[in-house]
Parts: sequence; C-alpha cells; structure tokens
Amino acid sequence: MSSKLSTTMNLKMFLYLFAISLSLPSFGQDVPQDYFKSPLDIPLLLSGTFGELRSNHFHAGMDIKTKGTTGLSVHASAEGYVGRIKIQHGGYGKALYIYHPNGYQSVYAHLDNFSPEIEKLVKEQQYQKESYEIELFPEESDLKVSQGQTIAFSGNSGSSGGPHLHFEIRDYQSKPMNPFLFGFEEIEDSQKPNVFALHSYAIGKDSHVNGSSGRKQLKLIQKNNGDFMTETIKVHGDIGFGIEVTDRLDLSYNKNGVYSIKTKLNGRPIFENTFDKFSFYETRYINRLIDFEFYKTEKRKIHKLFVEPNNPLSVYTDAYNRGVVNVFKDSLNQQFEIEVSDYKGNTQSITIPIESDYREGIEPNTQKETEYLAKSDAASVFEEGKIDIYIPKNALYEDTYLDIKIEGLTVDLHTYTTPLHKSVTIGFDVSQYSPEDQTKLYIAQVNPWGGQYYVSTYKKKDRLTTRTNQFGSYALFEDSTPPSIKPKNFKDKQWVSNFRYLELEITDEETGIDSYRATVNGKFILMEYDYKTNTLIYDFNDDKISDTKNELKVVVTDKVGNTSIFEAEFSRKN
Ligand SMILES: [Zn+2]
Repeated sequence: MSSKLSTTMNLKMFLYLFAISLSLPSFGQDVPQDYFKSPLDIPLLLSGTFGELRSNHFHAGMDIKTKGTTGLSVHASAEGYVGRIKIQHGGYGKALYIYHPNGYQSVYAHLDNFSPEIEKLVKEQQYQKESYEIELFPEESDLKVSQGQTIAFSGNSGSSGGPHLHFEIRDYQSKPMNPFLFGFEEIEDSQKPNVFALHSYAIGKDSHVNGSSGRKQLKLIQKNNGDFMTETIKVHGDIGFGIEVTDRLDLSYNKNGVYSIKTKLNGRPIFENTFDKFSFYETRYINRLIDFEFYKTEKRKIHKLFVEPNNPLSVYTDAYNRGVVNVFKDSLNQQFEIEVSDYKGNTQSITIPIESDYREGIEPNTQKETEYLAKSDAASVFEEGKIDIYIPKNALYEDTYLDIKIEGLTVDLHTYTTPLHKSVTIGFDVSQYSPEDQTKLYIAQVNPWGGQYYVSTYKKKDRLTTRTNQFGSYALFEDSTPPSIKPKNFKDKQWVSNFRYLELEITDEETGIDSYRATVNGKFILMEYDYKTNTLIYDFNDDKISDTKNELKVVVTDKVGNTSIFEAEFSRKN
C-alpha cells in the first residue's frame, strides 16, 4: 500500500479494503492475467500439470505435448531477458530462464537447442570452460527478448521421458506457481477427475475402521448422478482418508494431477489441499503427503487427506484438526465428504457415512520394537563391525525402530518402504584391502529384486562413505572394467566431408560414466552426451575443425576412475 493512501485512509476504509482482500481468491489480486502466452505455435495439449505427484517431488510446471517430435519453435511467453541458461546431462537438460519486468520468471526445459544468438553465446562459454554442462547468468542487456520471439527449439534433453516442453512460471521468490492461475484459458477440460480408489486409515493406536487397524480400501459405489458414496463404515478412534485420483484433460489421454481436494465433516470444511504454488525446498515432503509404503509396494499413489506431524507442506490451505476425524464411544453418526476438482472446476464427490463402533480386543497398530530406535528430532549413530550409520536430525518423519542387519561389508538398513527426508551416511571400514585394491571399490545399493547400482562413493583414508536418502541394502563391490567407447557413424581413416555429426557410443557396465573429454588434433572439442542413448555427439557446425586430416581422441572415465582412450583418424575437405 502506498504511503499516500495510508495517510488519508480511515479505519472504516481500511476494514472495507481488508474485507475485499479476504473475499478474493488466493493470489487472485496479484496474478497478472493473460500476461503470459503459450510458448508454442501448436494448440496447448498437456501431458503433465502443476502439482502432479511425481516420485520424490511435485511437478513444478506444465508439460506441453510437442506432437511426439523435437525441434518445434519455442517462443518467449512474455517480454523480458534471458537471465539464466543451464545445461546439464540429467534434470532439465538444456533450460532457459526468462526474467520478466513484473518480477516473474518463465522456464523452458528439456530443449533441443537455442536460437542462433543464444546458441552462439552458449557454445562460446562451453568451449571456454571446456564443459558441456554449464550455467550462465547473462546480464539484463545481453539477451533481451520480446513476447513471441523464438528463443529455442523443443527437445527431449535431460531426464525427459519423451519429447515435450516443460514450461514453468515462478514468482519473485522463485517459487513455482500453477500456470493455470495466469490464464491459458484455451486448455480444455470438461471431464471430472477420475477417483479410482478410496482408503481409510486408522491413525490412533486403538483406532479401527470396520474392525481393522492401519489402511483399508473402501468400496466406492457410484450413484445415478455420477457421485460416489460408500456403505456406512464402523469406526472408533482417530481416522483419516486417502484417495487415488488422476485427471484427464480433453484432447489428450495423459493422466494428469488434480488441482484441489477438499473434505468436510458434517458439512464443516476440515481439509483443503490446493496446488497454487509451493517452494522447491518443501517438494520432498511429498513423501509425507502420499502413502509412501503403499507407493513403494504397489506402485500406486494414495493422496492422504490428513496432515501428519512433520508435514509442513504449504499446499494445505485449511486443515481443521489436520483433517483427522475423531470418533468416540458415544459419537453420533457423522458424514464425511470429499470433493476433488480440476482447475476448470469439474468436481467429483464422495460421501462416507460414519458410525461409532467401540469394541475391545482390536489388535493395536504398533511398530515392532528393535534395539535401534531412531528419533525424528535427533541424530542417531549406529555402529557394528566395519560399518557405521549416521542418521541426521529430521531425516525420519516419525520415531522409528530400525531393522538393521550387518554382516561383514553388507548392511541391510531397514526397509525401502520407509521414507527418508534427508540423506543418511553409511561408512565402510576398508582397511583390510590394499591401497591399490581400495581404489576399485565402490558402494552399491542392492535391489531387493536383484541387481545393484552404484551410489556416490567418497574415499578418505581407509574409509568409504555414501550418503543416501533411501533405506535398503548396501554393500561393497569392485569395478575394474573400464568404459567402452565405440564409433557409431564412422570408421577409422574415413572421409567425413558431408557429415554434420560425429557420433560415438560410450557405456560403462558397473559404476557408470563419470567424465569424458574429446580433442581433435590436441584441441578440445565440445561433445554432447545423452545418457539415455549412451551417445556422444560432435556437431561440425561448431566450425572448430579446419584441417583436412584429423586425429580424434576421446577419453572416458568411470566413477571409480577406470579410464578408456579411443583414437581415430578422419579426413574432411573444408
Ligand atoms: Zn515437466
């Protein structure tokens, strides 16, 4: 509020303005409408929505379909300047960030390449730093863009599972916001969210639903008007509910996330979860929002409609009694209602009649006690033989009796069905190995269904450590096999005058590729690495090779330091 206004404002006026601001929808007064335009020329079809439940995070933007192909022009959604460019092998791959004069940012990810002006700047920096992975923060005056200007071309780079454009809008605090809040009215959705399962949770120690403790799936009965109800459930104690739900937009078959879930008890709102915005630092709390154990064992995500301790997520806008229903011995019959909506307001509702059912002799819902109790609000250290485990404060959401088995240089550290919010450190004493053998050792997570994979291993004196945010089995392995490097589209001593690209396949069986470096006639050349296809690509358009006869050398190192060198000769008329 401007100071001019406040000096002349009386109390009555203040209350009036206060009342108006309360009646507006959240963010409604701040969010500019139709400021951002679609970044693509084709109709907006989405394969992912904001807040969608992904593994370990909420989806921070919308995924726009690109007709299954790459190379579509990507336009600046609004005027501004390119303030950040980030290129990485995983994650967002090639990504652009535009800073807008109103304080918002728009983000374009998994790109194939950039517009010529930006591409030139990026390549210069990559050659200067001799690295494919870079992050740049251009000045405001360097790369100004107008709305609709072509800034890049769509792709499938980074950890993208197929060609699409990931588009995000962030506020001035860099918090991702639901793009639908800004308009994008052209996206059609006339279908209700699809609720395909409902679960009850007996939360308290002596709670039960229909005679059982823990989780129980309830049968949904569809009424003539399309709404759902259940048979009367017989309950005692503190209980909650969870649903499995997705939403389909018109014109695409992808199962997307919903916008809002509200619950009411006897007509009174007790819980609301709305995906307007969140912070990146809180996104891992998704492990607390979903039923993590059920997700790990069944590969299905139950969205819990109650807020447990150690769940500070900001997506809950209303949670009376944290969404929990208390049913006492003499409670009257109650009615629980769930309303699930997409952004367009299509709503599916579920009604659950509740009856008090006090009984004795129900098996209490308690944890199996072990000698390793880890508190959530304190750090714990466990040591046995050659292995030590450090669990920091707040790594666990609940105080937990851990199941730990240590045998030699293998540890079964609890179970993969318990979530971890922070990484724990596991240390292995490897003094029994010679210094030379030690260099080939690494720590791997052993899958319960067989196989193992490398986890980042740090070496210090006679100790190997890893930091991991997954419970499970960990053991020591040895990798003495260097990576393999094979030419993909050329042979040694070949003439490649008409080639646009040189392609090589690099793989490493055990620990994986750590680094690579390519030179031609001793000078660095930029090769792009796509881990999804194990391909290293050189683009002759970079114009760094002027000699006719050339010596290519590619050095690839795996994560314990085994190195392979590939050398070949190629010729080119310039
Ligand atoms: Zn995405």
